[in-house]
Amino acid sequence: MNVLKKIYKEIKKHKKIVLARHIGPDPDALGSTLGLKEIILNTFPNKQVYAVGTPAARHKYIGNLDMFDEKLYEDALLIVLDTPDIKRVDGIDPTRFKHKIKIDHHPIVDKYCDIEYVVDAASSASELVIELVYSTPLKINKEAAEKLYAGLISDTNRFLYSYTTDKTFYLVSWLLKKTNINIIDIYEKMYTMSINEKKLQSYVILNIKITDNKLGYLVLNQEELDELASDAATMTNIVNYLNYTEEMISWVIFAYDKNIDKFRASVRSRGPIINDVASHFNGGGHIFASGARLNNLDEVDDMIKELDKVCEEYNGKNE
Ligand code: 5GP
Ligand code: MN
Repeated sequence: MNVLKKIYKEIKKHKKIVLARHIGPDPDALGSTLGLKEIILNTFPNKQVYAVGTPAARHKYIGNLDMFDEKLYEDALLIVLDTPDIKRVDGIDPTRFKHKIKIDHHPIVDKYCDIEYVVDAASSASELVIELVYSTPLKINKEAAEKLYAGLISDTNRFLYSYTTDKTFYLVSWLLKKTNINIIDIYEKMYTMSINEKKLQSYVILNIKITDNKLGYLVLNQEELDELASDAATMTNIVNYLNYTEEMISWVIFAYDKNIDKFRASVRSRGPIINDVASHFNGGGHIFASGARLNNLDEVDDMIKELDKVCEEYNGKNE
């Protein structure tokens, strides 16, 4: 049986379902879980579905999360979305569930579920959920479509990235036709920001350093973040705006995160493969979009050197 049909069968079979995703959720992590919750309830109104994990204030418009009750370990089906590594699953311990499914679009790190639908060439976990509802008797509705659209749009940066394929457009076209969602309203919620955040973007552009190998980098300590009235979580958003700068083929922002006493790195690329370097520094991610947590400024320097080397090699091959 095809894996999507198998996933449908498991959903149909279980009365209680827990949906989880990675720590520090982005719109794709939230949109894919909250969208799938909406779809399951729309199809099977009598099921109990819980989307768990810590909320992210910044993406509150995508929807609210549910409390997790330990009793659910006994008999609920777990579906984890957008999370390749077991240690980054937020809010629950996957090993304590009997039945587990993974739906993900990252390169494989851990195999930790009985059924794994992993397509690392897919644009987003949200796209995989749209494919699931398209391919099975599950029923889409407007609320689910809005969340999934936000997730897909965020991970593709509005269809900019190479993982945007004819299949992505086909599934999005189907979604819009079926539900007639207002995409302008969604963009308003996703892209409207305070003048402070716009100033932050300018600050980053004014201060970023660029190496001869076309690596852009910027390190922000707590003092600088305070002055900019910003924090490490905001930086992962800013980094996307640096794309398509002629002088940079890869770029990274390090921002001190006082909550974990580490520097959070957000790396992007439009050529060199960067996730191996991120893995080397206690992180990971996609080949062109990764993150990591660095213990101190020495490690930050080492990571800049390794990324610069990857850029140098890439330039050498592409001259
Ligand atoms: P961002 O820069 O938006 O925080 O993350 C970009 C990508 O890298 C996402 O796919 C995210 O899941 C992954 N990522 C970010 N931080 C970490 C980390 O600390 N560890 C791992 N394994 N992946 C990360
Ligand atoms: Mn994703």
